[in-house]
Amino acid sequence: MTSNEVPNARESTSQSTGQPAGGLATGWVYVRVALDVPLAGPFDYVATNSILVGSRVVVPFGRRRLIGVVLATDIEPSIERSTIRAIERVLDDLSPLPPTWMALSQFAAHYYQRPVGEVMLPALPVPLRRLSHYEGKRSGEGPVVKWQARRAKAKSPLGVSLETPDKPVPVELNDEQTAAVQALSASQGFNAYLLHGITGSGKTQVYLAAAAQVLLRGGRVLFLVPEINLTPQFAAALAHRLGEVVPPSGVAVLHSGLSDGERLDAWLRTFDGTARIVLGTRLAVFAPMVDVDLIVVDEEHDPSYKQQEGLRYSARDLAIWRAQQSDAVIVLGSATPSLESWYRAEQGQYRRLTLTQRATRTTLPEVRLIDTRRLKLEQGLAPVLIEAVEETLAQGKQVLMFLNRRGYAPVLHCESCGWVSQCDNCSVFAVLHRQGPQRLRLQCHHCGTQRRAPSACPVCGDQDLQPMGRGTQRLEEHLAERFPQARLARIDADSTRRKGSAQSLFDRVHAGEVDILIGTQMVSKGHDFENLGLVGILNADSMLFSQDFRAPERLFAQLMQVAGRAGRHASAQTVEDGQDNPVTPARVLIQTGYPEQPVYQALKAHHFAGFAQSLLRDREGAGLPPFAFQALLTAEAAELPQALGFLESARAGAQAWLTEQGLTDSVVLYDVVPLRVVKVAGVCRAQLLIESTVRGDLHRLLRGWLPSLGQRHGAQRLRWHIEVDPLEI
Ligand code: ADP
Ligand code: ZN
Ligand code: ZN
Repeated sequence: MTSNEVPNARESTSQSTGQPAGGLATGWVYVRVALDVPLAGPFDYVATNSILVGSRVVVPFGRRRLIGVVLATDIEPSIERSTIRAIERVLDDLSPLPPTWMALSQFAAHYYQRPVGEVMLPALPVPLRRLSHYEGKRSGEGPVVKWQARRAKAKSPLGVSLETPDKPVPVELNDEQTAAVQALSASQGFNAYLLHGITGSGKTQVYLAAAAQVLLRGGRVLFLVPEINLTPQFAAALAHRLGEVVPPSGVAVLHSGLSDGERLDAWLRTFDGTARIVLGTRLAVFAPMVDVDLIVVDEEHDPSYKQQEGLRYSARDLAIWRAQQSDAVIVLGSATPSLESWYRAEQGQYRRLTLTQRATRTTLPEVRLIDTRRLKLEQGLAPVLIEAVEETLAQGKQVLMFLNRRGYAPVLHCESCGWVSQCDNCSVFAVLHRQGPQRLRLQCHHCGTQRRAPSACPVCGDQDLQPMGRGTQRLEEHLAERFPQARLARIDADSTRRKGSAQSLFDRVHAGEVDILIGTQMVSKGHDFENLGLVGILNADSMLFSQDFRAPERLFAQLMQVAGRAGRHASAQTVEDGQDNPVTPARVLIQTGYPEQPVYQALKAHHFAGFAQSLLRDREGAGLPPFAFQALLTAEAAELPQALGFLESARAGAQAWLTEQGLTDSVVLYDVVPLRVVKVAGVCRAQLLIESTVRGDLHRLLRGWLPSLGQRHGAQRLRWHIEVDPLEI
């Protein structure tokens, strides 16, 4: 991907440009256009009239015609003038994209080292960037005019209705919440706040109260949530609190689960300013708001804010940039903030707001560790855990069993010869799944391939194949046998494949139709189970000894979230009577073979701050983020040596560049290594980690060195990408 490979306008012939012979007449301008093509650009064109930055235009590109966005006008062309082709058409059904949006996209492209067109165009709704929507048979006057017509005809205004059947119950904020809201509303200009509130402390009410004040002043709010399935719940919360302030058309929801039409509608209402609240997942950080006054990033630590393909961006980090650029207030909320954010709060870059109490006057659940080392487990369950389930069910409360491993068993195994089920295309085990009583299948969780589970060992022919370990299906099976009276439900990626099935399972739990819920991480986020008396956590140790230095941080966050599902509500009776019935507080039981590990001790003590402090000390000692900045170059090839060879060559190039620039002391190049799961879907992967304590030096290297990578050894026969601030290493 070097700039001299670019077959852009310079390949074109002047005959096709329509330029007047003998040079340019006055009024002709050169413009630079962003195009969504995997080439670095720049792409320069000529226009017959002056043209505004941010306009969408139709241009010829090679033998194709594409929609692009004008980045700059009156430029000095980067190529021979006579070869420059003309812009065919300006799409004037929309005014130009706002400067703030252009700046954000350009910053993202620059920071994450991608061509700007690969940032801008995918951020637009499909109809606005595909020529077929303008020139197709049924395109009429284009998608925007069609949308306007649809809007004019619609009986009820388009948008998200904030009407709710039940009357909003006004919530009186407690002192800590009030203090947080006051701090936010008193804030002038750009300020970043870290809202650290324990699970159930009522962070949502703080966001909503702060948002209400902004909206009443005529301002705009951008709400980011980590997952699509949290948007309905958030929209409902907005409805309760803000329904009177904002009409349905004033709310836009943006996420990747929308149809093209829905996305277009939400996007256009944001663009034309009708929507004053934008709620969405990470892609909503690119919402085309001209101006924003408050940005909320809920569960800011959540890895879902990081896009894992194409433009590998962090929506949280871009949101901070966006807030800064718009002079807005930004709130990052979490019970378990990322160490990056925590560190910035320690440094005073972010102001910390703390909620130490549960809003519903309940206490935090009691966390106990079950040391499994000397215990005889029954199908993976400790006797105390089984007793606790019995007790909880007897009290008429619900149980959540958390096991972050879907399927029946992680592997099928031959006891006589040691054969284990493996995926043919990946370097991982094939997971045993049960589909119906007699149907066992082997499924790869990396590439998705499936096959029937063999009934006899493919190597020695022994018929005694055994599942090893357990996943949610097997746990469910065992619990159903053990507690035949209990009503069970399992929530994981398999049980919720059909659209809407996750919601209906959650609804059953909320309606009290489920006694024991078995779930993976899907159950850990956002959901508020009123009657949950016990959380059992199984197999957490598998995350304890990962090579990734973020593993303890992530394990803590995940277990804290799961544990936080418990006991969020005082029993209705206690509240009504105003007396303290001796209700057993909710319990969290963690099975572990390593109870002395700091992460478990910190969970037991509910002590995030202490844990964060000790992790930060470790990171500082090891020179890891947030005390250093990283970039990760990953190569994928048919054979591992190709990937390794390319990365070695790339590494040598980086080394040479650093030497030349005198930066060898500042930037560290790690050894080239295969990924932990080296092969996925027949492709072998390896990586090169680059690190510096000076962010600017790291970026100087990337800018100086990346453009030459395309010429490196074997670059044509493999795929590679760079990730800035990688989350997983
Ligand atoms: P968090 O996001 O901090 O985990 P939530 O915002 O989900 O917590 O709030 C937890 C529960 O407390 C919710 O049911 C919410 O309605 C309730 N709640 C929040 N603030 C108050 C308050 N001031 N008084 C009573 N209940 C509250
Ligand atoms: Zn065998
Ligand atoms: Zn596979």
